[in-house]
Amino acid sequence: MVKSQRELDKMRKAGEIVARVHQKMAEIIAPGITTLELDRVAEEIIRKAGAIPSFKGVPCAYGGKDFPGSICASINHVVIHGIPDNTVLKEGDIISIDTGAILDGFHGDAARTYPVGKVSEEARNLIYHTEEAFNLGMAQAVEGNRIRDISLTVQQYVESKGYSVVRDFVGHGIGTEMHEEPQIPNYVTREKGVRLSNGMTLAIEPMVNIGTWRVKVLEDRWTVVTLDGKLSAHHENTIAVMPNGPEILTRLY
Ligand code: MG
Repeated sequence: MVKSQRELDKMRKAGEIVARVHQKMAEIIAPGITTLELDRVAEEIIRKAGAIPSFKGVPCAYGGKDFPGSICASINHVVIHGIPDNTVLKEGDIISIDTGAILDGFHGDAARTYPVGKVSEEARNLIYHTEEAFNLGMAQAVEGNRIRDISLTVQQYVESKGYSVVRDFVGHGIGTEMHEEPQIPNYVTREKGVRLSNGMTLAIEPMVNIGTWRVKVLEDRWTVVTLDGKLSAHHENTIAVMPNGPEILTRLY
């Protein structure tokens, strides 16, 4: 779980590729583009950097086909795992893009929710507070704290804004595997979770719903939607617990 300096450097490089994909997504997301086109652009950036799109070909946990995309494209009430297709983005939509890359055996994983053109104040606020929940949760990722400190901080902030946190999907450790121990729920459980130490690498990822936290998986066995059809947002970075405080690895260096 704890990475060496050399391994952390590899994760920074993988993380930067993921950050470049998001930089591009922010540029090109607009009314009229399809999620398949976004996927094509993302895959090209990852492969040109000599990396592998880590989402592509992931086996389905619910018995469906392997994941076909390099991104998850989750529009409006879709929480996570939306499959890129010919859906055209419309003014006022919000879209969560989650993507990952493997470079030299190490993973980067990050998600952002983007507005499509001009969005409602309700949607803008949701995106803002989801990112803020991530920031506050990440601030708890310091040596000596426990996973529960992250969970509690995220949950309290999100619920103080009148939103709910998704329970069925959680953040995770990350390294040579996309999903490693420990799990990082965005809500408090009976588990305190492991104690954090410097060199641990984590994907912290609040998924925040305007209405109920309850979700369901659609017939494609991937797409996760809010049960009440209300909006959902997602913000994730791969981070490292470091002596000077948490470091975001999925960023431009
Ligand atoms: Mg993740």
